[in-house]
Amino acid sequence: MEDHLKYDVAIMGGGLAGLALSIQLAKKNYSVILFEKEKYPFHKVCGEYISMESWNFLEELGVPLSTLNLPIIDTLNLTAPNGKSFRTKLPLGGFGISRYKMDNLLVSLAKQGGAQILEETKVNDVCFNDDKFIIQYISKKSAGSKQIEASSCCGAFGKRSNLDVKWNRDFVAKKNSRINNFIAVKYHIKTEWPANVIGLHNFSNGYCGISQIEEQKYCLCYLTTAENLKKSGNSIQQMQETILYRNPILKSIFSSSEFIFQSPVTISQISFAKKSLVENHLLLLGDAAGMITPLCGNGMSMALHSSKMAATLIDLFLSKKIDRKKMENGYQQLWRSHFSNRVVAGRILQHFFGSVLLSNLFVGAFKAFPFLAKNIIKKTHGKPF
Ligand SMILES: Cc1cc2nc3c(=O)[nH]c(=O)nc-3n(C[C@H](O)[C@H](O)[C@H](O)COP(=O)(O)OP(=O)(O)OC[C@H]3O[C@@H](n4cnc5c(N)ncnc54)[C@H](O)[C@@H]3O)c2cc1C
Repeated sequence: MEDHLKYDVAIMGGGLAGLALSIQLAKKNYSVILFEKEKYPFHKVCGEYISMESWNFLEELGVPLSTLNLPIIDTLNLTAPNGKSFRTKLPLGGFGISRYKMDNLLVSLAKQGGAQILEETKVNDVCFNDDKFIIQYISKKSAGSKQIEASSCCGAFGKRSNLDVKWNRDFVAKKNSRINNFIAVKYHIKTEWPANVIGLHNFSNGYCGISQIEEQKYCLCYLTTAENLKKSGNSIQQMQETILYRNPILKSIFSSSEFIFQSPVTISQISFAKKSLVENHLLLLGDAAGMITPLCGNGMSMALHSSKMAATLIDLFLSKKIDRKKMENGYQQLWRSHFSNRVVAGRILQHFFGSVLLSNLFVGAFKAFPFLAKNIIKKTHGKPF
């Protein structure tokens, strides 16, 4: 193999986790290559509310958040399917920015820092042999499959990728259940909604978030079961009108807003099942390591935080201070100590909010005992890192 095809670090997937990792390791002068199957900038299904726990970390990476005039969100407005609403201050709060803009800011920083970014390039396979990784990929710009070699390798390929299927990871092999067969839909809209409030509106077997992003636009994004779409003849429009609109607040938002996209961005086969953190010596980051239910609003912070943990351990490994086994074990221990309880709390909440009866009851209980809501929010969020 030629010299220029060897890297210290190979990263598969250029979402928040992969891009943040590439910036941190390129800053330490390691040779970094990142593969992203799409072309930046591009839209992604996400509620686009980032918990404040990530603010300092993003600024340290070089994202000039305080100059971007982004909406700061400090209040949650929760509505039940029957339209009853509950409002509370968020302990830490967050800010709004589209993934189109955020991922693009991060990729520019990664390139400036010296990471090699291969866009429109999909990784097809990774093998670990003789203490190194061989990564096979295919690029839109050139014919045929190519390969490179790397000393360390991370999977930051998100919720579900071709590699999950290829490796038949446990969560892919599991039969459809209440935690692993969701779909999600996202729009950008212009509407009337307070800039400091994130709305979380429940409906039968799902919930829809609304919050402001840059340029006074709003992100309107919902998660529901694949079953709800099937019941609606696989028509998103019909599902919205017959299921979401039963919550009067959602009916009003959908009917009175200006939709910026011609058609929404959508994804399917979302699973909140437990995932492995290391697979064939690859460290898994962000959603590839486990997904917290979106009603908790901090999957992005977990993705960023996991990149910081991985960067620390990979640095120790590449500078020969620890061996590969210690790197892998150390990463898993760190991940579990910070995220395991949050992910479990999110999964429990998801069950309650799927049911019309229970989410009506929950909102009623929060109105009577507001401290309950504050405690639940704390259990699903972390601290600045
Ligand atoms: C409906 C919904 C709403 C959400 N709302 C919020 C919210 O408001 N706040 C919040 O904090 N979190 C939210 N989340 C969670 C958040 O979106 C994720 O946790 C976050 O995007 C994870 O980042 P990531 O880097 O792990 O993955 P991603 O951002 O998904 O990036 C993975 C990247 O890998 C690429 N890729 C995949 N396979 C390959 C391959 N083989 N080769 C090359 N590239 C590949 C993909 O194209 C993608 O760009 C929401 C999630 C959903 C489903």
